[in-house]
Amino acid sequence: MDRSQLDGRTGEPRGLGRSAGTPADQTTVRRSNLSLVLRHVSERGQCSRSAVATETGLNKTTITSLVGELQARGLLKEVGPQHAGSVGRPSLALALDGSRIGALGLEVNVDYIAAFATDLAGRVLIDRRIGFDAMRSEPGRSLDKLVQMIGRTIADLDALGVTLAGITVAVPGLIDTSSGTVVVAPNLGWQGVSVADALLSAGIPADVPITIDNDANLAALAEYTSGVALGTPDLIYLTGEVGVGCGIISGGRLLNGADGFAGELGHVVVDPSGEPCGCGRAGCWETKVGLAALVRMATPDHAYGTHHQAMRDPEERLAEIEQRRAEGDLRVGAAVTEVGRWLGRGAALLVNLFNPRVIVLGGYFARLADQIIPVAQAELDRLGMTSAAERCGFAASTLGFGAAARGAVNVVIERVLSDPTTIAFRPS
Ligand SMILES: [Zn+2]
Repeated sequence: MDRSQLDGRTGEPRGLGRSAGTPADQTTVRRSNLSLVLRHVSERGQCSRSAVATETGLNKTTITSLVGELQARGLLKEVGPQHAGSVGRPSLALALDGSRIGALGLEVNVDYIAAFATDLAGRVLIDRRIGFDAMRSEPGRSLDKLVQMIGRTIADLDALGVTLAGITVAVPGLIDTSSGTVVVAPNLGWQGVSVADALLSAGIPADVPITIDNDANLAALAEYTSGVALGTPDLIYLTGEVGVGCGIISGGRLLNGADGFAGELGHVVVDPSGEPCGCGRAGCWETKVGLAALVRMATPDHAYGTHHQAMRDPEERLAEIEQRRAEGDLRVGAAVTEVGRWLGRGAALLVNLFNPRVIVLGGYFARLADQIIPVAQAELDRLGMTSAAERCGFAASTLGFGAAARGAVNVVIERVLSDPTTIAFRPS
């Protein structure tokens, strides 16, 4: 409910007499007002009760009651004293607490599983990644590994005295978010995998909300709210992994499509006689620009799926590619140029369709951005239909391989800000 619809005196919907309000209405209004106050302090930073009252339009009595509840739930705290002026006694300011409330974001990808946890104020508590060969593992084994990672992380959060407010798992595939099911994740070899059910049956506490979402969409949101394209309402994020996902923010909103499947540029066929793709087709765009394509061209002796060495995570693969380039291996430079060219061609398609201002390059693209971006930009400028292409630039993500997990954490925090009553009262 928009706060302008609320009565500033009572916090109840305008135009409704007390007799017309049912308990359900009052609960909804109370929840909405708790969210309003919590979000206000979260966005504004430290402020006094009277400032919150003035700026939200709620009266001081209502604010006192709402703040009391938010404190009891461990979401707000008092700091200070704050001197509002030269006259009158100093009052304590309000600040976001949430130091005991944790948000956990995870990412399962082709060659790693990552966990990232913060408290409600965004303080990083845990940031870890393990190499894992999901491409050559059964879905059940990948899920076991994910469950282990979650169990270990929850234990560490427990040891810090932090209670988990929610878990979001990022997966590179098409996701039915309503049921927490991965419809298909080609490079993981997953089809119809209910991640939410698997976590519940593995003993993840049922009172912890679980969300499953597409990695590129989550990363795009992270870039929009805290990355290099902060606040740019028309941006596109490309994941730069073995698979190449695409998260589209248009007019400040994530573009989902009818089923939540929008943005699968990685599986648009650009070369029907090209290399086989994880999705079963041939010549998809990601077979030209994905990390497996770069590795195939730059270090063919270590191509994905062809060697039997110890598992390597993407950082190790990139380190090897950079080392070979330093040793003068000409294949590496040619491979990076080829990737840049195909990236520019894909970008031209995106610019013609969505007219973004920035295309954020994540994952391995960001690591090689100094060589990839000039080639990709030249190709985009050559192929773009209009001056929109000239005004669209590439930017290298600074969130690295952790962008999706960071976006996953934001989903949990946003849910708490939207409904603070999901956080239990702290035992007194
Ligand atoms: Zn494909």
